[in-house]
Amino acid sequence: MNETIRLGHIAGVRVGVNWTVLVIFSLILVGLATVQFPLVDEDLSTAAAWVAGLLGALAFFASLLAHELAHALVARRNGIEVEGIVLWLFGGVAKLQGEAPNPEADLRIAGVGPLVSLLLGLAFGAVAIALAWFGAGALSVAVFGWLGLINIVLAVFNLVPASPLDGGRILRAILWQLRGDRTTAAITAAKAGRVFGFILIGLGLLQAVFIPGLGGLWMVLIGWFLTVAAGAEEQQARVHGSLGGLRVADLMTHDPVTVRADVTVAALLDEYILQKRNRFSAFPVVDDDQRPVGLITLNRIKSLDADQRRATTVGDIACSGDEIAIAGPEEAVTAVLPRLGTCADGRAIVTHEGRVVGILSPTDIARMIQIAEVWQGGTGGSTVRGIHDIRP
Ligand SMILES: [Zn+2]
Repeated sequence: MNETIRLGHIAGVRVGVNWTVLVIFSLILVGLATVQFPLVDEDLSTAAAWVAGLLGALAFFASLLAHELAHALVARRNGIEVEGIVLWLFGGVAKLQGEAPNPEADLRIAGVGPLVSLLLGLAFGAVAIALAWFGAGALSVAVFGWLGLINIVLAVFNLVPASPLDGGRILRAILWQLRGDRTTAAITAAKAGRVFGFILIGLGLLQAVFIPGLGGLWMVLIGWFLTVAAGAEEQQARVHGSLGGLRVADLMTHDPVTVRADVTVAALLDEYILQKRNRFSAFPVVDDDQRPVGLITLNRIKSLDADQRRATTVGDIACSGDEIAIAGPEEAVTAVLPRLGTCADGRAIVTHEGRVVGILSPTDIARMIQIAEVWQGGTGGSTVRGIHDIRP
C-alpha cells in the first residue's frame, strides 16, 4: 500500500493516500447518502443526503488520520523513525522504520490509536446527543451519531488481540513484558492474527450466503488481508529473531571490487568479471574518492542486449545512489532490512567514513538465518514494520 498521491505533512509526518482509498470512500459515501440518512428523515432531499454523506465520509477519514497520526507521533517520541501515513482500502497504515525499544513503548505506540478513536467516538456521540437535546434536525443528529458509532466500532475492532491489528501489538507488548522475549511474543500475536483472519473469512462466507449484499464479501476480504499480513509478520519475527544482535560487519562481504561509472559494460565483463574470475555478482559504482554513486548487478547486465555492451557504460544501467540502501558496518542488520530496495535485488552498500568497505547481500542474510535456525531454533529480537488499521 504505497502512496499514490501525497497530501502533505501534518506535524512533520508525511501523509499520502493510495488510490484504493477511493473504493472505500465511495462505498461509505453511497451507503450514507442512499441508505443510512434517508432512513432517519423520509422528507430528506437527495441533495441534502449527498452533502451530509460527503461531510460524514470526509470527517470519518479525518478521524482515521487522527488515529494513525497518534501512532506516528508516539512512535517518533519513542525514537522510532516514521516514514509516513498512508490511507488505503482497509483504513490506514502508519509506516514505522524500526522497533520499539521496550514493551512499554510498544504498548504506548499501539494503544494510543484505539484510544484516539474511542475519544473521538465519545466526542461525536456527545455532540449528537446535545444536538438531539436542543431539537436540531434529524440529519445533523444522524451524521454525528454515525461518526460517534463508527469511531467506537473502529476502536473496538482494532483492539482484537490479533496482529496486525493494534490489539495484536498490545498482546505482543504484554507477552514481551511477561516472558522477556519479543520474538516469541510477536509470533504468538501473529498466530492469533491468522486465526482471527480465518474466523472473519468463515463469518463473511456465512453472511454472504444468508444475507445478500457486500457486507459478507467485505468481511472475507478483511479476513484474507489479516491472514496474509499476520503470516508475513510471523515470518518477519522469525527472521529478526535469527538476526537479533548481528551487525552489518558480521555478515557483509568485505572489500568488494568497485567500478567507475564511465567504464563500458563490455569492459566490466572482460576485465572485472571474466579475467579476474571474481565471485562477485554486484559491483559498487564509485567516484574518484571511492564514494558510492550506484551499484551494478549481473542481473542488470543480463537485461542489456549483448550488442549494446560496447556502447553502454556502467553508469547508464546501474542502480542510482538513491535506489541503494547505504549501511554502516556497526549498524544492526535488522535495522537495514526495511531499507533494502528491489533495484539492487536487496543488496546494501556498506560504507565507512563515506567510502565503500563492503556489500551486504540477501544471500549473506539468508545463509545466516539458516545457520541461526540450525543453531538455536531462532530466538532474539524482532521489529515493527508498520501499524495497520482496518475498518470493519
Ligand atoms: Zn491503529
